[in-house]
Amino acid sequence: MAYLDTRLFINGEWTDATDGRTLAVQNPATGEEIGRVAHAGRADLDRALDAAQRGFEVWRDYTPAARSRIMRAAAALLRERSGDIALLLTQEQGKPLPEAKGEINAAADIIDWFAEEGFRVYGRLVPHRSSLSIRQMVVKDPVGPVAAFTPWNFPVNQVVRKISAGLATGCSLIVKAPEETPASPAALIKAFQDAGLPEGVLGLVFGDPAEISEYLIASPIIRKITFTGSTPVGKLLAGMAGKYMKRVSMELGGHAPVIVCEDADVELAVRSAGNAKFRNAGQVCISPTRFLVHNSVKDRFAEALSTLAQGVKVGDGLAEGTQMGPLANARRVAAMAEFQEDAVARGARLLTGGGRIGEAGNFWSPTVLADVPLDARLFNDEPFGPVAGIRGFDKLEEAIAEANRLSFGLAGYAFTSSLANADLLSRRVEVGMLWINTPAAASAELPFGGIKDSGYGTEGGPEALENYLNIRSVVVANV
Ligand code: NAD
Repeated sequence: MAYLDTRLFINGEWTDATDGRTLAVQNPATGEEIGRVAHAGRADLDRALDAAQRGFEVWRDYTPAARSRIMRAAAALLRERSGDIALLLTQEQGKPLPEAKGEINAAADIIDWFAEEGFRVYGRLVPHRSSLSIRQMVVKDPVGPVAAFTPWNFPVNQVVRKISAGLATGCSLIVKAPEETPASPAALIKAFQDAGLPEGVLGLVFGDPAEISEYLIASPIIRKITFTGSTPVGKLLAGMAGKYMKRVSMELGGHAPVIVCEDADVELAVRSAGNAKFRNAGQVCISPTRFLVHNSVKDRFAEALSTLAQGVKVGDGLAEGTQMGPLANARRVAAMAEFQEDAVARGARLLTGGGRIGEAGNFWSPTVLADVPLDARLFNDEPFGPVAGIRGFDKLEEAIAEANRLSFGLAGYAFTSSLANADLLSRRVEVGMLWINTPAAASAELPFGGIKDSGYGTEGGPEALENYLNIRSVVVANV
Protein backbone atom coordinates (compact mmCIF):
# COMPACT_ATOMS: atom_id res chain seq x y z
CA MET A 1 0.00 0.00 0.00
CA ALA A 2 1.37 3.41 -0.96
CA TYR A 3 2.15 5.65 1.98
CA LEU A 4 -0.47 8.37 2.58
CA ASP A 5 -0.19 12.02 3.53
CA THR A 6 -1.86 12.66 6.89
CA ARG A 7 -4.34 15.43 7.62
CA LEU A 8 -5.81 16.71 10.86
CA PHE A 9 -9.11 15.23 12.07
CA ILE A 10 -11.31 17.93 13.55
CA ASN A 11 -15.05 17.79 14.19
CA GLY A 12 -15.47 14.60 12.17
CA GLU A 13 -13.58 15.87 9.10
CA TRP A 14 -10.09 15.34 7.69
CA THR A 15 -8.64 18.76 6.96
CA ASP A 16 -5.40 20.50 6.09
CA ALA A 17 -3.94 22.99 8.55
CA THR A 18 -5.60 26.40 8.21
CA ASP A 19 -2.33 27.96 7.11
CA GLY A 20 -1.42 24.95 4.93
CA ARG A 21 1.72 24.06 6.88
CA THR A 22 3.05 20.50 6.65
CA LEU A 23 6.00 18.47 7.96
CA ALA A 24 7.99 15.76 6.18
CA VAL A 25 7.66 12.10 7.16
CA GLN A 26 10.68 9.85 6.52
CA ASN A 27 11.11 6.13 6.17
CA PRO A 28 13.76 5.24 8.79
CA ALA A 29 14.93 2.30 6.69
CA THR A 30 15.91 4.53 3.76
CA GLY A 31 16.02 8.08 5.10
CA GLU A 32 13.73 9.10 2.24
CA GLU A 33 10.73 11.38 2.55
CA ILE A 34 7.62 9.27 2.03
CA GLY A 35 4.87 11.75 2.80
CA ARG A 36 3.74 14.88 4.63
CA VAL A 37 1.71 15.51 7.76
CA ALA A 38 -0.41 18.59 8.44
CA HIS A 39 0.98 20.98 11.08
CA ALA A 40 -1.80 22.46 13.22
CA GLY A 41 -1.75 26.11 14.26
CA ARG A 42 -3.75 27.97 16.92
CA ALA A 43 -6.85 28.28 14.73
CA ASP A 44 -6.90 24.50 14.21
CA LEU A 45 -6.44 23.85 17.91
CA ASP A 46 -9.29 26.22 18.74
CA ARG A 47 -11.56 24.33 16.34
CA ALA A 48 -10.42 21.01 17.83
CA LEU A 49 -11.17 22.27 21.36
CA ASP A 50 -14.58 23.55 20.42
CA ALA A 51 -15.40 20.22 18.72
CA ALA A 52 -14.13 18.22 21.72
CA GLN A 53 -16.44 20.15 24.04
CA ARG A 54 -19.46 19.54 21.82
CA GLY A 55 -18.44 15.93 21.24
CA PHE A 56 -18.19 15.39 24.99
CA GLU A 57 -21.70 16.76 25.55
CA VAL A 58 -23.04 14.21 23.07
CA TRP A 59 -20.91 11.17 24.01
CA ARG A 60 -21.34 11.38 27.79
CA ASP A 61 -25.07 10.79 27.24
CA TYR A 62 -24.56 7.58 25.25
CA THR A 63 -25.30 4.44 27.23
CA PRO A 64 -22.38 2.07 27.88
CA ALA A 65 -24.04 -0.37 25.46
CA ALA A 66 -24.20 2.22 22.68
CA ARG A 67 -20.57 3.22 23.26
CA SER A 68 -19.55 -0.41 23.31
CA ARG A 69 -21.26 -1.14 19.97
CA ILE A 70 -19.30 1.63 18.22
CA MET A 71 -16.02 0.65 19.88
CA ARG A 72 -16.45 -3.00 18.89
CA ALA A 73 -17.26 -1.99 15.32
CA ALA A 74 -14.04 0.08 15.25
CA ALA A 75 -12.06 -2.92 16.54
CA ALA A 76 -13.54 -5.12 13.81
CA LEU A 77 -12.60 -2.57 11.12
CA LEU A 78 -9.10 -2.37 12.52
CA ARG A 79 -8.70 -6.15 12.26
CA GLU A 80 -10.04 -6.09 8.70
CA ARG A 81 -7.57 -3.36 7.77
CA SER A 82 -4.60 -4.60 9.79
CA GLY A 83 -2.60 -5.65 6.71
CA ASP A 84 -2.86 -2.22 5.08
CA ILE A 85 -2.30 -0.28 8.30
CA ALA A 86 0.74 -2.44 9.14
CA LEU A 87 2.30 -1.38 5.83
CA LEU A 88 1.89 2.27 6.79
CA LEU A 89 3.27 1.63 10.27
CA THR A 90 6.36 -0.21 9.07
CA GLN A 91 7.14 2.42 6.44
CA GLU A 92 7.00 5.28 8.93
CA GLN A 93 8.36 3.59 12.06
CA GLY A 94 10.61 0.80 10.79
CA LYS A 95 9.50 -2.24 12.81
CA PRO A 96 9.14 -5.58 10.97
CA LEU A 97 5.80 -6.03 9.25
CA PRO A 98 4.64 -8.97 11.43
CA GLU A 99 5.33 -6.86 14.55
CA ALA A 100 3.36 -3.98 13.04
CA LYS A 101 0.44 -6.27 12.26
CA GLY A 102 0.66 -7.71 15.77
CA GLU A 103 0.48 -4.19 17.20
CA ILE A 104 -2.71 -3.45 15.26
CA ASN A 105 -4.42 -6.70 16.21
CA ALA A 106 -3.43 -6.12 19.84
CA ALA A 107 -4.96 -2.65 19.56
CA ALA A 108 -8.25 -4.22 18.41
CA ASP A 109 -8.16 -6.53 21.43
CA ILE A 110 -7.61 -3.55 23.73
CA ILE A 111 -10.60 -1.71 22.24
CA ASP A 112 -12.81 -4.80 22.67
CA TRP A 113 -11.76 -5.27 26.28
CA PHE A 114 -12.45 -1.64 27.21
CA ALA A 115 -15.74 -1.72 25.27
CA GLU A 116 -16.86 -4.43 27.72
CA GLU A 117 -15.30 -2.88 30.80
CA GLY A 118 -17.30 0.32 30.17
CA PHE A 119 -20.38 -1.65 31.33
CA ARG A 120 -18.76 -2.09 34.73
CA VAL A 121 -18.36 1.54 35.76
CA TYR A 122 -20.44 1.25 38.91
CA GLY A 123 -21.32 3.65 41.68
CA ARG A 124 -22.37 2.74 45.25
CA LEU A 125 -25.31 3.22 47.58
CA VAL A 126 -24.19 4.12 51.09
CA PRO A 127 -26.64 3.78 54.04
CA HIS A 128 -27.46 7.08 55.71
CA ARG A 129 -26.59 7.33 59.41
CA SER A 130 -30.02 8.35 60.63
CA SER A 131 -32.64 7.95 57.90
CA LEU A 132 -33.56 5.11 55.57
CA SER A 133 -35.36 7.52 53.28
CA ILE A 134 -32.22 9.42 52.46
CA ARG A 135 -30.34 7.84 49.59
CA GLN A 136 -26.61 8.48 49.53
CA MET A 137 -25.13 7.72 46.14
CA VAL A 138 -21.55 7.61 44.95
CA VAL A 139 -21.59 8.27 41.21
CA LYS A 140 -18.86 8.17 38.59
CA ASP A 141 -18.95 10.49 35.59
CA PRO A 142 -16.56 11.07 32.70
CA VAL A 143 -13.96 13.68 33.58
CA GLY A 144 -14.48 15.66 30.35
CA PRO A 145 -12.46 16.38 27.20
CA VAL A 146 -8.99 14.84 27.38
CA ALA A 147 -5.73 15.90 25.71
CA ALA A 148 -3.65 12.81 24.90
CA PHE A 149 0.02 12.95 23.81
CA THR A 150 1.59 9.82 22.37
CA PRO A 151 5.03 8.78 21.05
CA TRP A 152 6.41 7.11 17.93
CA ASN A 153 7.58 3.71 19.24
CA PHE A 154 4.10 2.12 19.16
CA PRO A 155 2.23 4.65 17.03
CA VAL A 156 -1.07 2.75 17.27
CA ASN A 157 -0.86 1.03 20.63
CA GLN A 158 0.13 4.07 22.64
CA VAL A 159 -2.92 5.91 21.30
CA VAL A 160 -5.37 3.05 21.62
CA ARG A 161 -4.99 2.58 25.38
CA LYS A 162 -5.88 6.22 25.95
CA ILE A 163 -8.71 6.32 23.44
CA SER A 164 -10.23 3.05 24.65
CA ALA A 165 -10.33 3.97 28.34
CA GLY A 166 -11.47 7.51 27.52
CA LEU A 167 -14.26 6.48 25.16
CA ALA A 168 -15.48 3.66 27.40
CA THR A 169 -16.07 6.15 30.20
CA GLY A 170 -17.75 8.81 28.02
CA CYS A 171 -14.89 11.28 27.52
CA SER A 172 -13.98 13.01 24.27
CA LEU A 173 -10.29 13.20 23.33
CA ILE A 174 -7.95 15.34 21.29
CA VAL A 175 -4.97 13.17 20.38
CA LYS A 176 -1.62 14.76 19.59
CA ALA A 177 -0.01 11.79 17.88
CA PRO A 178 3.64 11.61 16.78
CA GLU A 179 4.64 13.71 13.78
CA GLU A 180 7.27 11.12 12.81
CA THR A 181 4.71 8.29 12.54
CA PRO A 182 1.36 9.94 11.76
CA ALA A 183 -0.37 7.71 9.18
CA SER A 184 -0.97 4.62 11.32
CA PRO A 185 -2.58 6.48 14.25
CA ALA A 186 -4.68 8.36 11.68
CA ALA A 187 -5.85 4.99 10.31
CA LEU A 188 -6.84 4.01 13.86
CA ILE A 189 -8.91 7.18 14.25
CA LYS A 190 -10.47 6.54 10.82
CA ALA A 191 -11.69 3.14 12.04
CA PHE A 192 -13.62 4.92 14.82
CA GLN A 193 -14.99 7.46 12.34
CA ASP A 194 -16.15 4.68 10.01
CA ALA A 195 -17.66 2.80 12.95
CA GLY A 196 -20.02 5.71 13.53
CA LEU A 197 -18.39 7.68 16.34
CA PRO A 198 -20.21 11.05 16.58
CA GLU A 199 -18.28 14.04 15.32
CA GLY A 200 -16.09 15.87 17.81
CA VAL A 201 -15.63 12.85 20.11
CA LEU A 202 -12.16 12.16 18.72
CA GLY A 203 -9.82 14.76 17.29
CA LEU A 204 -6.34 14.24 15.89
CA VAL A 205 -3.70 16.95 15.60
CA PHE A 206 0.00 17.16 14.77
CA GLY A 207 2.44 20.04 14.84
CA ASP A 208 4.90 21.46 17.34
CA PRO A 209 4.55 19.21 20.44
CA ALA A 210 5.53 21.92 22.94
CA GLU A 211 3.25 24.53 21.36
CA ILE A 212 0.29 22.15 21.25
CA SER A 213 0.71 20.80 24.78
CA GLU A 214 1.08 24.29 26.23
CA TYR A 215 -2.05 25.47 24.47
CA LEU A 216 -4.26 22.47 25.17
CA ILE A 217 -3.23 22.04 28.81
CA ALA A 218 -4.04 25.68 29.53
CA SER A 219 -7.45 25.52 27.84
CA PRO A 220 -10.40 25.46 30.27
CA ILE A 221 -12.10 22.95 27.96
CA ILE A 222 -9.51 20.24 28.65
CA ARG A 223 -10.08 18.44 31.96
CA LYS A 224 -7.44 15.72 31.80
CA ILE A 225 -3.95 15.24 30.37
CA THR A 226 -2.44 11.90 29.48
CA PHE A 227 1.09 11.52 28.13
CA THR A 228 3.36 8.67 27.12
CA GLY A 229 7.00 9.52 26.49
CA SER A 230 10.20 10.45 28.25
CA THR A 231 10.40 11.31 31.95
CA PRO A 232 11.74 14.87 31.43
CA VAL A 233 8.87 15.78 29.10
CA GLY A 234 6.40 14.03 31.43
CA LYS A 235 7.58 16.11 34.37
CA LEU A 236 7.24 19.27 32.31
CA LEU A 237 3.67 18.46 31.28
CA ALA A 238 2.66 17.28 34.77
CA GLY A 239 3.95 20.60 36.11
CA MET A 240 1.84 22.53 33.62
CA ALA A 241 -1.19 20.38 34.39
CA GLY A 242 -0.68 21.10 38.09
CA LYS A 243 -0.72 24.82 37.41
CA TYR A 244 -4.18 24.47 35.85
CA MET A 245 -5.37 21.75 38.27
CA LYS A 246 -5.94 19.19 35.53
CA ARG A 247 -6.14 15.44 36.09
CA VAL A 248 -3.01 13.67 34.84
CA SER A 249 -1.76 10.23 33.91
CA MET A 250 1.83 9.70 32.86
CA GLU A 251 3.39 6.62 31.28
CA LEU A 252 7.08 7.52 31.20
CA GLY A 253 10.51 6.05 30.64
CA GLY A 254 12.00 3.00 32.30
CA HIS A 255 15.32 1.21 32.74
CA ALA A 256 14.24 -2.36 33.33
CA PRO A 257 16.51 -4.57 35.42
CA VAL A 258 16.75 -8.27 34.52
CA ILE A 259 17.93 -10.24 37.57
CA VAL A 260 19.28 -13.67 36.69
CA CYS A 261 19.82 -15.69 39.87
CA GLU A 262 22.34 -18.52 40.26
CA ASP A 263 19.48 -21.05 40.26
CA ALA A 264 17.87 -19.59 37.10
CA ASP A 265 17.11 -21.47 33.91
CA VAL A 266 19.78 -19.54 31.98
CA GLU A 267 18.52 -20.62 28.55
CA LEU A 268 15.02 -19.38 29.41
CA ALA A 269 16.45 -16.09 30.67
CA VAL A 270 18.51 -15.54 27.51
CA ARG A 271 15.64 -16.46 25.21
CA SER A 272 12.98 -14.38 27.00
CA ALA A 273 14.97 -11.30 27.90
CA GLY A 274 17.14 -11.46 24.76
CA ASN A 275 14.22 -11.55 22.35
CA ALA A 276 12.50 -8.79 24.29
CA LYS A 277 15.69 -6.70 24.22
CA PHE A 278 15.82 -6.52 20.42
CA ARG A 279 12.07 -6.28 19.80
CA ASN A 280 11.21 -2.98 18.10
CA ALA A 281 14.99 -2.34 18.11
CA GLY A 282 14.87 -1.86 21.88
CA GLN A 283 12.57 1.17 21.57
CA VAL A 284 10.11 -0.11 24.12
CA CYS A 285 9.48 1.51 27.50
CA ILE A 286 9.51 -1.91 29.21
CA SER A 287 12.54 -3.18 27.26
CA PRO A 288 15.04 -5.12 29.40
CA THR A 289 18.07 -2.86 29.80
CA ARG A 290 20.21 -3.65 32.86
CA PHE A 291 21.12 -7.35 32.90
CA LEU A 292 22.21 -8.22 36.46
CA VAL A 293 23.53 -11.77 36.39
CA HIS A 294 24.84 -13.92 39.23
CA ASN A 295 28.62 -14.26 38.85
CA SER A 296 28.39 -18.07 38.76
CA VAL A 297 26.37 -17.97 35.50
CA LYS A 298 27.43 -14.59 34.10
CA ASP A 299 29.89 -15.80 31.44
CA ARG A 300 27.48 -18.47 30.19
CA PHE A 301 24.68 -15.92 30.05
CA ALA A 302 26.82 -13.30 28.29
CA GLU A 303 28.01 -15.77 25.66
CA ALA A 304 24.49 -17.03 24.94
CA LEU A 305 23.07 -13.51 24.77
CA SER A 306 25.84 -12.51 22.33
CA THR A 307 25.05 -15.54 20.15
CA LEU A 308 21.37 -14.58 20.19
CA ALA A 309 22.24 -10.97 19.26
CA GLN A 310 24.44 -12.11 16.37
CA GLY A 311 21.58 -14.21 15.02
CA VAL A 312 19.06 -11.35 14.87
CA LYS A 313 18.31 -10.60 11.21
CA VAL A 314 18.43 -6.82 10.79
CA GLY A 315 16.90 -5.14 7.75
CA ASP A 316 14.08 -3.17 6.20
CA GLY A 317 10.91 -4.00 8.12
CA LEU A 318 9.14 -4.69 4.82
CA ALA A 319 11.64 -7.40 3.83
CA GLU A 320 10.71 -11.03 4.41
CA GLY A 321 12.41 -12.52 7.47
CA THR A 322 13.55 -9.24 9.06
CA GLN A 323 13.60 -9.58 12.84
CA MET A 324 14.82 -6.10 13.74
CA GLY A 325 14.27 -2.94 11.71
CA PRO A 326 16.05 0.41 11.86
CA LEU A 327 15.86 2.80 14.79
CA ALA A 328 12.90 5.11 14.32
CA ASN A 329 14.93 8.28 13.87
CA ALA A 330 18.49 9.55 13.51
CA ARG A 331 18.48 10.87 17.11
CA ARG A 332 18.49 7.29 18.38
CA VAL A 333 21.51 6.35 16.20
CA ALA A 334 23.50 9.22 17.67
CA ALA A 335 22.34 8.19 21.16
CA MET A 336 23.46 4.55 20.64
CA ALA A 337 26.94 5.71 19.57
CA GLU A 338 27.19 7.89 22.69
CA PHE A 339 25.99 5.15 25.06
CA GLN A 340 28.48 2.71 23.65
CA GLU A 341 31.52 5.01 23.49
CA ASP A 342 30.88 6.16 27.03
CA ALA A 343 30.52 2.59 28.39
CA VAL A 344 33.67 1.34 26.64
CA ALA A 345 35.64 4.41 27.75
CA ARG A 346 34.67 3.58 31.35
CA GLY A 347 35.79 -0.04 31.06
CA ALA A 348 32.88 -2.05 29.63
CA ARG A 349 33.76 -4.91 27.22
CA LEU A 350 32.06 -4.94 23.83
CA LEU A 351 31.03 -8.56 23.23
CA THR A 352 29.16 -8.14 19.99
CA GLY A 353 27.64 -5.55 17.65
CA GLY A 354 28.36 -1.96 18.40
CA GLY A 355 28.03 0.00 15.23
CA ARG A 356 25.87 1.48 12.58
CA ILE A 357 24.97 -0.82 9.72
CA GLY A 358 25.21 0.68 6.22
CA GLU A 359 25.04 4.29 5.15
CA ALA A 360 21.33 4.66 4.45
CA GLY A 361 18.68 4.40 7.15
CA ASN A 362 19.05 4.24 10.92
CA PHE A 363 20.33 0.70 11.42
CA TRP A 364 22.28 -0.22 14.55
CA SER A 365 23.63 -3.70 15.14
CA PRO A 366 22.29 -5.64 18.14
CA THR A 367 24.88 -4.92 20.80
CA VAL A 368 25.98 -6.63 24.02
CA LEU A 369 28.34 -5.01 26.52
CA ALA A 370 29.69 -6.83 29.59
CA ASP A 371 31.05 -5.55 32.90
CA VAL A 372 29.34 -2.21 32.46
CA PRO A 373 30.39 0.13 35.29
CA LEU A 374 27.64 1.70 37.35
CA ASP A 375 28.65 5.20 36.32
CA ALA A 376 28.26 4.44 32.60
CA ARG A 377 25.42 6.35 30.95
CA LEU A 378 24.05 3.01 29.76
CA PHE A 379 23.29 2.11 33.38
CA ASN A 380 21.74 5.47 34.23
CA ASP A 381 19.87 6.98 31.26
CA GLU A 382 17.18 5.07 29.39
CA PRO A 383 18.98 3.55 26.35
CA PHE A 384 15.86 3.09 24.18
CA GLY A 385 17.77 1.06 21.62
CA PRO A 386 19.20 -2.40 20.87
CA VAL A 387 22.01 -2.29 23.43
CA ALA A 388 22.20 -4.74 26.35
CA GLY A 389 24.51 -4.09 29.31
CA ILE A 390 25.54 -6.89 31.68
CA ARG A 391 26.92 -6.75 35.24
CA GLY A 392 27.64 -9.53 37.70
CA PHE A 393 26.46 -9.82 41.32
CA ASP A 394 27.14 -12.18 44.24
CA LYS A 395 24.18 -11.68 46.60
CA LEU A 396 20.55 -11.21 45.56
CA GLU A 397 20.26 -8.19 47.91
CA GLU A 398 22.99 -6.45 45.86
CA ALA A 399 21.04 -7.04 42.64
CA ILE A 400 17.83 -5.75 44.21
CA ALA A 401 19.64 -2.65 45.47
CA GLU A 402 21.00 -2.04 41.96
CA ALA A 403 17.55 -2.59 40.43
CA ASN A 404 16.14 0.07 42.77
CA ARG A 405 19.08 2.49 42.52
CA LEU A 406 17.62 4.52 39.66
CA SER A 407 14.63 6.81 39.91
CA PHE A 408 12.82 4.80 37.20
CA GLY A 409 10.27 2.17 38.26
CA LEU A 410 8.50 0.86 35.20
CA ALA A 411 9.25 -2.79 34.36
CA GLY A 412 11.48 -5.48 35.85
CA TYR A 413 12.31 -9.10 35.09
CA ALA A 414 13.79 -11.91 37.14
CA PHE A 415 14.73 -15.53 36.58
CA THR A 416 15.00 -17.98 39.47
CA SER A 417 13.80 -21.47 40.35
CA SER A 418 13.52 -20.60 44.05
CA LEU A 419 10.15 -19.65 45.46
CA ALA A 420 11.89 -17.77 48.26
CA ASN A 421 13.82 -15.64 45.75
CA ALA A 422 10.69 -15.03 43.68
CA ASP A 423 8.82 -13.94 46.79
CA LEU A 424 11.59 -11.59 47.90
CA LEU A 425 11.87 -10.09 44.41
CA SER A 426 8.13 -9.58 44.11
CA ARG A 427 8.12 -7.65 47.39
CA ARG A 428 11.30 -5.62 46.98
CA VAL A 429 11.81 -4.67 43.33
CA GLU A 430 10.36 -1.18 42.91
CA VAL A 431 8.60 -1.40 39.55
CA GLY A 432 5.04 -1.10 38.32
CA MET A 433 5.30 -4.38 36.37
CA LEU A 434 7.43 -7.40 37.31
CA TRP A 435 7.72 -10.58 35.25
CA ILE A 436 9.41 -13.59 36.87
CA ASN A 437 10.47 -16.55 34.68
CA THR A 438 8.43 -15.28 31.75
CA PRO A 439 8.67 -12.66 29.03
CA ALA A 440 6.54 -9.53 29.26
CA ALA A 441 3.03 -9.82 27.90
CA ALA A 442 1.12 -6.57 28.22
CA SER A 443 -2.61 -7.25 28.05
CA ALA A 444 -5.58 -4.93 28.35
CA GLU A 445 -6.82 -6.58 31.52
CA LEU A 446 -3.64 -6.03 33.57
CA PRO A 447 -2.49 -2.68 34.94
CA PHE A 448 0.18 -1.14 32.73
CA GLY A 449 2.25 1.69 34.15
CA GLY A 450 5.06 2.70 36.41
CA ILE A 451 5.94 4.04 39.82
CA LYS A 452 8.61 6.54 40.94
CA ASP A 453 9.84 8.66 37.98
CA SER A 454 8.17 6.29 35.51
CA GLY A 455 4.85 7.97 36.14
CA TYR A 456 1.43 7.34 37.62
CA GLY A 457 -2.02 6.30 36.49
CA THR A 458 -2.14 2.84 34.98
CA GLU A 459 -3.24 2.27 31.37
CA GLY A 460 -4.62 -1.25 31.78
CA GLY A 461 -7.14 -3.16 33.85
CA PRO A 462 -10.29 -1.75 35.44
CA GLU A 463 -8.05 0.77 37.24
CA ALA A 464 -7.36 2.47 33.90
CA LEU A 465 -10.96 3.65 33.72
CA GLU A 466 -10.68 5.41 37.08
CA ASN A 467 -8.25 7.87 35.51
CA TYR A 468 -11.05 9.11 33.24
CA LEU A 469 -13.76 9.37 35.89
CA ASN A 470 -14.86 11.92 38.44
CA ILE A 471 -16.19 10.49 41.69
CA ARG A 472 -19.04 12.46 43.26
CA SER A 473 -21.46 12.06 46.17
CA VAL A 474 -25.14 12.77 45.57
CA VAL A 475 -27.57 12.63 48.49
CA VAL A 476 -31.34 12.58 47.87
CA ALA A 477 -33.93 12.89 50.65
CA ASN A 478 -37.40 11.55 49.98
CA VAL A 479 -39.65 14.43 51.10
P1 NAD B 1 11.58 13.53 23.52
O1 NAD B 1 11.78 13.37 24.97
O2 NAD B 1 11.80 14.89 22.93
O3 NAD B 1 10.10 13.11 23.07
C1 NAD B 1 9.39 12.02 23.61
C2 NAD B 1 7.94 12.19 23.17
O4 NAD B 1 7.40 13.35 23.78
C3 NAD B 1 7.75 12.43 21.67
O5 NAD B 1 6.60 11.75 21.25
C4 NAD B 1 7.56 13.94 21.54
O6 NAD B 1 6.74 14.31 20.44
C5 NAD B 1 6.87 14.28 22.82
N1 NAD B 1 7.16 15.60 23.32
C6 NAD B 1 8.37 16.20 23.43
N2 NAD B 1 8.26 17.43 23.97
C7 NAD B 1 6.92 17.61 24.19
C8 NAD B 1 6.15 18.68 24.75
N3 NAD B 1 6.72 19.80 25.21
N4 NAD B 1 4.80 18.52 24.81
C9 NAD B 1 4.20 17.39 24.37
N5 NAD B 1 4.89 16.35 23.86
C10 NAD B 1 6.22 16.45 23.77
O7 NAD B 1 12.56 12.56 22.79
P2 NAD B 1 12.50 11.59 21.57
O8 NAD B 1 13.81 11.68 20.90
O9 NAD B 1 11.28 11.72 20.70
O10 NAD B 1 12.37 10.22 22.34
C11 NAD B 1 13.50 9.80 23.08
C12 NAD B 1 13.18 9.42 24.47
O11 NAD B 1 11.78 9.42 24.75
C13 NAD B 1 13.62 7.99 24.67
O12 NAD B 1 14.93 7.99 25.11
C14 NAD B 1 12.66 7.46 25.67
O13 NAD B 1 13.19 7.70 26.94
C15 NAD B 1 11.44 8.32 25.57
N6 NAD B 1 10.28 7.63 24.98
C16 NAD B 1 9.54 6.89 25.82
C17 NAD B 1 8.44 6.22 25.32
C18 NAD B 1 7.58 5.37 26.20
O14 NAD B 1 6.91 4.48 25.70
N7 NAD B 1 7.55 5.60 27.51
C19 NAD B 1 8.11 6.33 23.97
C20 NAD B 1 8.91 7.12 23.14
C21 NAD B 1 9.98 7.79 23.68
